[in-house]
Amino acid sequence: TCKVFGVFGASGFGREVMPVARGMDDLEGFDFVFVDDNPPAAEINGYKVLTYQEFVDVNADVKSIIVAIADAGIRRNIEARCANDDIKLCTVVSEKSLKMDQVKIGDGAVICPFVTLTSNIKIGKSFHANIYSYVAHDCVIGDYVTFAPAVKCNGNVKIENNAYIGTGAIIKQGKPGKPLIIGEGAVVGMGAVVTKNVPAGAVVVGNPAKPLGHKRLGG
Ligand code: UDP
Repeated sequence: TCKVFGVFGASGFGREVMPVARGMDDLEGFDFVFVDDNPPAAEINGYKVLTYQEFVDVNADVKSIIVAIADAGIRRNIEARCANDDIKLCTVVSEKSLKMDQVKIGDGAVICPFVTLTSNIKIGKSFHANIYSYVAHDCVIGDYVTFAPAVKCNGNVKIENNAYIGTGAIIKQGKPGKPLIIGEGAVVGMGAVVTKNVPAGAVVVGNPAKPLGHKRLGG
């Protein structure tokens, strides 16, 4: 049988996800290609780069995909297109990541090298955890959440759909039954230290993290 695995997105993150996918036991026997709507080159790092239509037209018994693009909205759109064409959405988990007890992860996730997911964690669809990030006990993570590298997400934190957490951000632990909440679509800047709830849609930066553009009264 002919099995083809597409890494959708042939840019920076795609080139990082490709070797992780190729190293997975579950994907043994697959041929690997990049898929991109705007191919930067015909071949990258020894892999063919196909347009989406070319990928759809490939004659294979099994066709699977992972979307390696950080933008949550783009991820959603591409996954919808693939579902429409009966292309199976996979999960890519690095052999060099660590999952402890009772960790649930939805389809479409990318768990990069040196990510640690400790115990009793629930993660929705298409989570991206970039290198060296961790998620600690009792966290609940929604759909299309994105972690840049080295995000430190401590225990009892709830992160709602489409939130983006920048490189090196630190999220303070919540309490059992009273999680620290990062609201839907919020953006946490690089290096931010989040000590309290972040409202939906807010952009917070700094230590302690505060909404960007916040004006001091009387200032
Ligand atoms: N891309 C695509 N379809 C889309 C949007 C983006 O194929 O609808 C591709 C785009 O051509 C580029 C890659 O995805 O090659 C996104 O790269 P970018 O550097 O913006 O994102 P990153 O790799 O940092 O997630």
